[in-house]
Amino acid sequence: MMLCSDLCLPQSALPRMDPLGSMEQCEDEKARSPNREPTLWQALPVLSEQQSRDMELVLAYAAPILDKRQTSRLLKEVSAVHPLPAQPHLKRVRPSSDASRPHVLEMLLCLAGPAAGARSLAELLPQPAVDPRGLGQPFLVPVPAWPPLTRGQFEEARAHWPTSFHEDKRVTRALAGRLFSAQEQAEMQGHMERAVWVAQQAAIRGLRAVGAVVVDPASGQVLATGHDCSNSASPLLHATMVCIDLVAQGQGQGNYDLRPHPACSFTPVSASQGVQAISVRTLDKDMDTDEDGLPYVCTGYDLYITREPCAMCAMALVHSRVQRVFYGAPSPDGALGTRFRIHAQPDLNHRFQVFHGVLEAQCRQLDPDT
Ligand SMILES: [Zn+2]
Repeated sequence: MMLCSDLCLPQSALPRMDPLGSMEQCEDEKARSPNREPTLWQALPVLSEQQSRDMELVLAYAAPILDKRQTSRLLKEVSAVHPLPAQPHLKRVRPSSDASRPHVLEMLLCLAGPAAGARSLAELLPQPAVDPRGLGQPFLVPVPAWPPLTRGQFEEARAHWPTSFHEDKRVTRALAGRLFSAQEQAEMQGHMERAVWVAQQAAIRGLRAVGAVVVDPASGQVLATGHDCSNSASPLLHATMVCIDLVAQGQGQGNYDLRPHPACSFTPVSASQGVQAISVRTLDKDMDTDEDGLPYVCTGYDLYITREPCAMCAMALVHSRVQRVFYGAPSPDGALGTRFRIHAQPDLNHRFQVFHGVLEAQCRQLDPDT
């Protein structure tokens, strides 16, 4: 099992304050000005399995280039015979790691099998396609099996063999906690505070303390606010399911009767807003529609939820085509980082971004989604 904390920066890298200290500071801050509490949390991405895994190594054969003048010819001939199509990230030539001969180059020849042993140049390089003149005795070397996707993977990979890296700057910034501006963080905090509030409303009514809010990030408008409404008669009314249904009710659809739960509310999409929203959302090239030709219920929207959604809720978010999910703290059976990463499955037809840690300390006091 991969824990959420394994995916991101070490906990020690995050700014943290002891609870008493932060409480005092918040009280001071409130007393001084009506502004928001200072941000004591950090939204960090929950990456895919591929982005989070440790670099895997495979064995390859390399050989020293004894005559440097032959390098470009050898490069051409060896690459034609062993093109390494699954390892485009591996550079063919590296400066020798032999400190006594610092300027000798080494050339990657081909991958080796799992039970690889010593091989001669004649065994590895068919002649006359390759004239091995200028190469020394082949040796085995571990090389990165797949292209690095994050800067951490790249640093690990290139320690073994020179590796190219097409950095996704957004991922690097996200992992460093620098993706969101102060203004965006203030808005995110406001939405999560609303989710915490509605979770507390649930707790007051004896329901499970999980709260969620759906926001249209284009306008900042809150479209739905809901808490867990499950009971023995309706055990599946988790906060996410409630919120998706509330958004649908705002669009004139929806299935649940949530009138007994006054803290659960939605914003009706007025005709003009609806037309505008749909026309704006049509511009999204990834947008797909259901059988009626309408966008899926949460296309382009953000969900803020106090604790990490379970597998049922995570799949419902896939089906509703949510754009981003922000949760405060993980859940033991969570499906967006803890047990599964349903938001980043290559074989599902919708993927979305997930960030954890928004108001984490407050959310940790609330119930997990199970
Ligand atoms: Zn759930």
